[in-house]
Amino acid sequence: METKYIFVTGGVVSSLGKGIVAASLGKLLQARGYSVTIQKFDPYINIDPGTLNPYEHGECYVTDDGHEADLDLGHYERFLDIATSRANNITTGRIYQNVIRKERKGDYLGKTVQVIPHITDEIKRNVKLLGLKKQYDFVITEIGGTVGDIESLPFLESVRQLKWELGQNCLCVHLTYVPYIAAAGEVKTKPTQHSVKQLQEVGIQPDILVLRTEHTLSSDILRKVALFCNVSAESVVQSVDVPTIYQVPLALGEQHLDEIVLKKSGITPEAKPELKEWKKFLALREEAKDVVTIALVGKYVELQDAYKSIDEALLQAATYSGRKLRLISVHSEKVSEENVAELLGGVDGVVVAPGFGSRGVDGKFVALRYTREHGIPTLGICLGMQCMVIEFARNVLGWSDAHTTEIDPTTTHKVVDLMEEQKSISDLGGSMRLGGYDCVLRPGSKIAAAYGSDFIRERHRHRFEFNSQYREAYEAAGMICAGENPDTGLVETVELSGHPWYVGVQYHPEYRSTVLHPSPLFLAFVKEAIKHGGERHQS
Ligand code: GLN
Repeated sequence: METKYIFVTGGVVSSLGKGIVAASLGKLLQARGYSVTIQKFDPYINIDPGTLNPYEHGECYVTDDGHEADLDLGHYERFLDIATSRANNITTGRIYQNVIRKERKGDYLGKTVQVIPHITDEIKRNVKLLGLKKQYDFVITEIGGTVGDIESLPFLESVRQLKWELGQNCLCVHLTYVPYIAAAGEVKTKPTQHSVKQLQEVGIQPDILVLRTEHTLSSDILRKVALFCNVSAESVVQSVDVPTIYQVPLALGEQHLDEIVLKKSGITPEAKPELKEWKKFLALREEAKDVVTIALVGKYVELQDAYKSIDEALLQAATYSGRKLRLISVHSEKVSEENVAELLGGVDGVVVAPGFGSRGVDGKFVALRYTREHGIPTLGICLGMQCMVIEFARNVLGWSDAHTTEIDPTTTHKVVDLMEEQKSISDLGGSMRLGGYDCVLRPGSKIAAAYGSDFIRERHRHRFEFNSQYREAYEAAGMICAGENPDTGLVETVELSGHPWYVGVQYHPEYRSTVLHPSPLFLAFVKEAIKHGGERHQS
């Protein structure tokens, strides 16, 4: 079958969950046996979100091919169990970079280079890139931002052109908001009508409307929206708040969103997919009564999206362990010798978060010393592992000045140091050790037991590394470097002997954890946490 292109646009306000709607539609189509991929176009000028801090843009997700990507790609992977790549996330910056590069090469043969057609052609080329090899039946493209923004105009113009060129092979799903005015006791559809008008003004007639709402909308309201927006009545569906984002595919499936898409694409829908495994996960989540309490220690814990993939990986692992997840956010800047027992003494397990720079690391050292000395299961991720290494050097090996050269470049004990290849790099964008790397695990180690394998592949995003010069000293004192890169010998994991479960990983296991394939490492960590919780209660 010819590849079908579906665009998901958003109106009225941001944060409506376009990514979740795109991923849910993808899931429904995938469950019917179609091959699906999803891409995100972000209208900002940064080449990628790698240089944006979490206050600006939440978590930075990383693909296997080493692209620093928008966090929506994490949703796509978690929902669809597919790998995304550099081609799945494009920004205005990258579009312009490509066009300017071509201009400098003289590819435009003396022509004036303009937004239309050159920028729009480059956008269209990137949309179609994923469909080129005919490996996907559906390419879903989420357009970031809100209709009416100046920035998204070239993207919308490209959607308009593609709809014209591709006919039935191209659809636009527009997500809007229907607010509830408490004082009037009514929901209001006017903002939706206006946002559809704005789309129509740039020449796009949406085929399907998804209305985000906190209150269930009556069929009268849906019909009214259909009438005002030139959309058939059955093509207006609603997305009411649900307890978990993983219910959204079912909620949209009940309103036949996938069938509407198929029919509009000229495909006769066959029997409804069952989504058995997916429902099993939701049932487990629903049925879990006992709680596992995990503390996440990081400097961005007050932000909802800063540790998105870690939150989701923990939820998945807890669910498959038959527990409800109680995630306690511990701000690393606020952890001190005085309050650490109060903060962490009653939790089942502790995750020490990734990060950059010095803010909050002292709190991480205090937290880690406490969990190390009190036998609390601990998972250190990236900077979290580096902090484990530093804390161990200072308090066990007796090297009181030990540090990472990221924070103290002049220390005599550079236990975490810049890799040789990194020393000549001055640009911050896209220049880290990024993406999937193989790792061999020492048989008999905790990390090998967690994975049930001695060969894994996980994704990285960092500049600094465990300094292998100290490896022997660490091992002799009980910190075992059980995971190693087979090509470079770089130490990728550490663990403590004589502790129930104290494991640090230089990579980010959270990026590969999906709803149907949760991360084995998070599963092992949560299992240990549950065990620790049980022992704590007994004593
Ligand atoms: N700042 C550290 C480094 O660059 C850790 C990065 C991270 O935690 N992702 O090595």
